[in-house]
Amino acid sequence: MAHMERHPFNITIIGAGVVGLAIAEELSRHFDSILLLEKNESQGQETSSRNSEVIHAGIYYPEGSLKASLCVEGRKLLYEACEKRGIPHKRIGKLIVATGPDEEEALLGLQAKAQNNGVDDMLFLSGRVVHSLEPDVIASAGLLSPSTGIIDSHSLMRALLAGSTGNGVTAVFRSAVTGARFDGSRYDLEVNNGEYLVSSRVVVNSAGLQSDRLAALPGIDIDREGYRLKLCKGSYFSATPQPRLRHLVYPVPTPKHEGLGVHATLDLAGRVRFGPDVEYVDAIDYRVDEGKRDAFHASILTYLPLLVKESLNPDMSGIRPKLQGPGEDIRDFVIREESRLGLPGWVNLIGIESPGLTACLAIAKQVAHLIEPLME
Ligand SMILES: Cc1cc2nc3c(=O)[nH]c(=O)nc-3n(C[C@H](O)[C@H](O)[C@H](O)COP(=O)(O)OP(=O)(O)OC[C@H]3O[C@@H](n4cnc5c(N)ncnc54)[C@H](O)[C@@H]3O)c2cc1C
Repeated sequence: MAHMERHPFNITIIGAGVVGLAIAEELSRHFDSILLLEKNESQGQETSSRNSEVIHAGIYYPEGSLKASLCVEGRKLLYEACEKRGIPHKRIGKLIVATGPDEEEALLGLQAKAQNNGVDDMLFLSGRVVHSLEPDVIASAGLLSPSTGIIDSHSLMRALLAGSTGNGVTAVFRSAVTGARFDGSRYDLEVNNGEYLVSSRVVVNSAGLQSDRLAALPGIDIDREGYRLKLCKGSYFSATPQPRLRHLVYPVPTPKHEGLGVHATLDLAGRVRFGPDVEYVDAIDYRVDEGKRDAFHASILTYLPLLVKESLNPDMSGIRPKLQGPGEDIRDFVIREESRLGLPGWVNLIGIESPGLTACLAIAKQVAHLIEPLME
């Protein structure tokens, strides 16, 4: 690193997923000299384009957590942005369905939890009303979340990138950050193993599945800080012929909240997809295992009894960057400026799993807030 010229920037953002892009646009409203570095050829080729594209209401997350507050705030900001900027989206609503008395209890618990998180529009429905909304779904009762919707995440990311570059952000692709060193006032970032160097006052690590390894580069002990990620794959199956559904339909979630159950999602083209399941993995491999068909079919049958097993086809998958391992309690998003670790101006975003897409605009505001005092 010693003798090469360094390209100077005030702020460098690592990762052009939906979160890095939202941060770039938000920061570009307040600060200048911003660089966005992405290792792939274009934006959003990883988790941000391998998800359910659901705008979550914010029902399930622990009260007082960033997941809860940033989801509720982010959802409102996202609907506003979609309307203002012509980003395709639809408030189609979500039904959580119970199969019997135990799950009806759980629905009431969810309604109360949602209320505490500021989601006050949830409606408890009898099985008969659920049936009138979704004739092919069986349920003893249901909870309707009218503020849940779907979004075209690719359009969102294009809009955020255009907004950022329009405000002067330099976005550079095919550029992986491979080294980072703090000299007491600025960070030297090595790109593509030394192809070029960047010098930056502030660094925002929003590198998704690699964010723990990025945090280790300037010397953070990621095990001591509890930053090591566990990869948790979620696979989807589609169905031909398509089931008739008008809402997103979810079973009651599992207690540890590892995933939201094999639910039925709809995209803006009206295509139904089932998933994602929950599978901790050691490596990133997006192939969908056909052998899961039986398990998918069994879970879907609990609410969609007419679905024929042979109609299910392996579809896509995505990988959640989770901080908690299998069976462990839910962990919150890490969004921290690391002065306490002797790294002022280094901001880590780690464990940004669901509802990261919904929350992206609120996360971006939070990051702007964290770095504001450093930019004076
Ligand atoms: C199966 C699944 C379903 C989901 N469903 C939903 C949902 O319905 N609603 C919702 O709100 N959220 C959902 N999520 C969560 C949501 O997709 C994520 O929270 C969000 O996409 C995270 O965005 P990100 O920008 O942090 O990460 P990413 O999209 O992973 O972006 C990180 C970027 O950093 C880049 N990068 C990594 N290392 C480097 C490096 N060294 N140098 C340069 N660049 C680097 C990567 O190439 C990547 O482009 C889901 C997630 C999964 C896996």
